[in-house]
Amino acid sequence: MNRRDFTSMTLGGLAGMALRPRVALAQGDLKVNGNRINAHIKALSEFGKNPEGGVSRVAYSDADRAGRAAVMEWMKAAKLDPVIDAAGNIIARRAGTEPSRKPLLFGSHIDSVPNGGNYDGDVGTLSAIEVAQTFAEHNVVTRHPLEIVIWQNEEGGLFGSRAVSGQIKPGELQTVSNSGKTVEQGIAFIGGDPSKLDTVKRKKGDIAGYFELHIEQGGILDKNNENIGVVEGIVGIKQWEVTVTGFQNHAGTTAMADRHDALLSAARFVEMVNRVVRSISGRQVGTVGRIQAFPGAPNVIPGKVVCSLELRDLDDSKIDSMFARIKREAKAIGDLNQTTFAYTELHTNVAAPSDARMRKIISDAAAGLGLTRRLMPSGAGHDAQAMATLGPMGMIFIPSVGGISHAPKEFSRPADITNGANVLLRSVLAADKLLD
Ligand SMILES: [Zn+2]
Repeated sequence: MNRRDFTSMTLGGLAGMALRPRVALAQGDLKVNGNRINAHIKALSEFGKNPEGGVSRVAYSDADRAGRAAVMEWMKAAKLDPVIDAAGNIIARRAGTEPSRKPLLFGSHIDSVPNGGNYDGDVGTLSAIEVAQTFAEHNVVTRHPLEIVIWQNEEGGLFGSRAVSGQIKPGELQTVSNSGKTVEQGIAFIGGDPSKLDTVKRKKGDIAGYFELHIEQGGILDKNNENIGVVEGIVGIKQWEVTVTGFQNHAGTTAMADRHDALLSAARFVEMVNRVVRSISGRQVGTVGRIQAFPGAPNVIPGKVVCSLELRDLDDSKIDSMFARIKREAKAIGDLNQTTFAYTELHTNVAAPSDARMRKIISDAAAGLGLTRRLMPSGAGHDAQAMATLGPMGMIFIPSVGGISHAPKEFSRPADITNGANVLLRSVLAADKLLD
């Protein structure tokens, strides 16, 4: 028990409840118990802990299942009644005064990447539980029903949240996860029922809104000494496999002027992608991250090169226009030495903008707490992008020290975590008043 709990208990016990208003504190003064969140983060880090100081708590592992059981106990201590849905998500509903309203959701995930850290997902999950516990301790009842959610297998491809948004494609359940189990086996392992996945689906308008608190996973807030990131949206991602075709020939006997060197074209392509992406104002990014030349011998002019192309931006149409320009310039590069470029689309993640009202709610909540804030995109994917298809979405970032994430050295300061949880608490209360 901390001093504050002791004080309020003594007041409640000695002075008598009759002398006190039903809601002990004006809602604007409510604060989470930061020590309790940080103690829970430390306790959760024991499940799947690795020698480097982080965790390897991949979805569907024994550590994942044990960590989920511990978190469900903490939810019960917060006067919640958690259930596991057919998709394996942990969901706890807290009744509101107006039961006909759609639920307001908030939460995150607790699975990690292999050899991951102790903050990605955990901060948002444990803060969501803390917000519910703070409400319970101060008898705060919202108008909307609240749902505290812990999505399963975020790191393997947002499986839990995409099951709810109805975006799982046929065959995806056979994907082999990092645990070695297929997603289908994994869902059963953590207490879901993969044969009833359809029952968890919700449609657009089924939720009043969704908030997620998360670590930034980049270094912008830390570098600029800012407290809170108000997420503009989660960037769209498109990836292609690019095949450059030339003509394989002898490296000793083929004159320089007669070569159709696929690797030379690919090298010009890499330079061009960087130039095109940088020539436009904005925060879009473009990457060639993988390249292979065939046949791949020192004495053979490469006849074929296969490389990747990835483009990201908050605006899908900007990705499309950059790609169109890249294709045009690649054609010109190919014409220089009679090589050709062909593209196969590998992966698309459409951009998920946050809701303007939710951004304002988060920004006002942070301002009310005297915290500095920055409007920023999320370059990483989150469960929030699946929820954005169902209703208004808002995301809160806190600083990641040194911008390190998906690694054991991932770290967020306890005070920043507490700030984030207080912004989440105030945002939930404000959204409860403002949203339908
Ligand atoms: Zn995460």
